[in-house]
Amino acid sequence: MSIKIQSKLPKVGTTIFTVMSQMAMEHNAINLSQGFPDFPVSEKLIDLVYQNMQIGHNQYAPMPGLPQLREAIAHKIRHTGGIKVNIDAEITVTAGATEAIFSSVLATVQQGEEVIVLEPAYDCYIPAIEMAGGKAIPIGLNLPDFSPDWQKVKAHITDKTRMIMINYPHNPSGAILTENDIKELKEILEENPQIIILSDEVYEHIIFDGKTHLSVLKDEFLASRSIAVSSFGKTFHATGWKIGYVVAPEGIMKEIRKVHQYNCFSVHTPSQYAMAEYLQDEQNYLGVSAMYESKRSFFQNAFKDSKFKVIPSYGTYFQVLDYSEVSDMGDMEFAQYLIKEKGVASIPVSAFYSNKEDHKLLRFCFAKGEETLQKASEILCKI
Ligand code: PMP
Ligand code: GLN
Repeated sequence: MSIKIQSKLPKVGTTIFTVMSQMAMEHNAINLSQGFPDFPVSEKLIDLVYQNMQIGHNQYAPMPGLPQLREAIAHKIRHTGGIKVNIDAEITVTAGATEAIFSSVLATVQQGEEVIVLEPAYDCYIPAIEMAGGKAIPIGLNLPDFSPDWQKVKAHITDKTRMIMINYPHNPSGAILTENDIKELKEILEENPQIIILSDEVYEHIIFDGKTHLSVLKDEFLASRSIAVSSFGKTFHATGWKIGYVVAPEGIMKEIRKVHQYNCFSVHTPSQYAMAEYLQDEQNYLGVSAMYESKRSFFQNAFKDSKFKVIPSYGTYFQVLDYSEVSDMGDMEFAQYLIKEKGVASIPVSAFYSNKEDHKLLRFCFAKGEETLQKASEILCKI
């Protein structure tokens, strides 16, 4: 007889990214589903990790992260227009953004408290809230531009609201924040002293068309009430390295570190040394946008005479296509059809909604070589 335990996450299955990547592999499809680049990580960065392993930097790093790396992160934040961050008290290096989000939510959300989640939303948010004993309050973003509906957000604030989670540049849509969004957010914080923001900014260095990423760390007041999450996996196209960081005011960070130290303790030491040095050359992070912008434009251009409608993508490495003039199928069914019958894998946007609402949108990852993008778009345009 097998032992049964009561699930803490009864509604959770295997993530859509794993499911679609697996299906792509089984059907030998071009995989534009799960978000990961198909081109190599910088030789320089790889050499730095190797050198640091050889030097002997192979034992535990300090729990909050290597001081040199925290220093380099603080410099990057300042250099890109952000606040001055105290490296001893306000930065922690984490095992990717996922751990940063999980530790942050676990540390700050109490049993029964409410967390506003703007949907479509990345899939790790709600399970983290539920593991903390909190209640997710999903609110739909405006369509088709995926901007926050601040009136709706305000209408859902109660005395139990502890946190609002935001994610810009936005996965899956590529939407970005405007100055007006920042103003609205600040007004909400001014009126509701119990609320903090968790700002998932993993695509901060992937932003197009001369636009600027409006980080919560660029405003003293917002920063004083926010937890900002970043990922070197995204910035340096090394998603498998699982290294990121979280920035928060001292009082909040003290609690986040209590969770981090028992959830993870510390992050891969040679990678931290390598990142600290690699960050010294600002081109290594400032140059990332241009590389992805040309891929974004190449991919968008391929659909300009097709029946697919291109939703503007100003950041991230994702492109959403509206296929409502191509097929009547639901997005999950259509995504599966495309993998099995046409050999192209994508992610149905309904997977990013807790009620699985379907707007006939598919997300494609364009962090791939042009030949791959060309091949995939040719197949899609013929449908
Ligand atoms: N947030 C968003 C919006 C993401 O797309 C991802 C991507 N994978 C993560 C968080 C997690 O990042 P990491 O791989 O650094 O854990
Ligand atoms: N963030 C990636 C995406 O959105 C997936 C990461 C994962 O598979 N957990 O595709």
